[in-house]
Amino acid sequence: MFIGHYALAFASKKIDKLPSLAILFVAVQFLDLLWPIFVLLGIETFEIEAGNTAMTPINFTSYPYSHSLLMSIIWAILFALVYFLITKNKKGSVLIAALVFSHWILDFITHGADLQISPFSNTRVGLGLWNAPIFEMIFEIGLFATGIYMYFKTVNPKRKIAFWSLTLFFLVIYLMNIYGPPPPSTSAVAWSANAMWIFVIWAWWIEKK
Ligand SMILES: [Zn+2]
Repeated sequence: MFIGHYALAFASKKIDKLPSLAILFVAVQFLDLLWPIFVLLGIETFEIEAGNTAMTPINFTSYPYSHSLLMSIIWAILFALVYFLITKNKKGSVLIAALVFSHWILDFITHGADLQISPFSNTRVGLGLWNAPIFEMIFEIGLFATGIYMYFKTVNPKRKIAFWSLTLFFLVIYLMNIYGPPPPSTSAVAWSANAMWIFVIWAWWIEKK
C-alpha cells in the first residue's frame, strides 16, 4: 500500500483543516518513514524475493518495531501526544493518532501474513490483497481518487500546479512499483524509501502561504 495511505491524509482535511498536509503525510506514513531507518540501522530486515506476493517482491522478514500492531498503537499515541503538546489541538490530535494507526490497518489489508502482533509475539497477520492485483488497484486507486477529490473540495489549494503534479507523481510511482523492474538490492530499497520525505516537503510547499 502506497498512495492509499496518502489518500487518508488528503481526505482528513474534511475532519480538521488545522493540521498541515505535511504533518498529515508524516502521520499516515510514519511507520514507513521509520522502517528504512530501522533497516539501515540493522534493527529490521527484509528480502527481495520475486513473487512474494503478486504485486511486490519484498518479503518483510522482520519489522516488529515499525510495523507490529502493538508498536503502531504506541507510535500513534506518541505522535499524537507530541502534536497535542505543541498545538493544543484536541480534535487534530485524535485525528493524527487515527491516521498513524490507519497505516497498520491498510497494511493489514494488503500485506501477506507478515505483520507481527507485537515485537514479543511471532503471530503474523495480513489479508494479502496484494495477491489479487485487480482488486488491490481498484481499492487503492479508488481510495486515492476519493482523497484527492475531498482535499480539493475542502481546501481548494492555491498552488494548483504543485498539487496536480504531486497527484500525477504519486500515480506514476505507484504504477512503476507494480510494472517496473524489481529493485536491484535491499539497500537500494532502504535508501530510496527515505526519499518519501520529499512528499512531506512537497505537501508543505502546496500549502505554504
Ligand atoms: Zn507500511
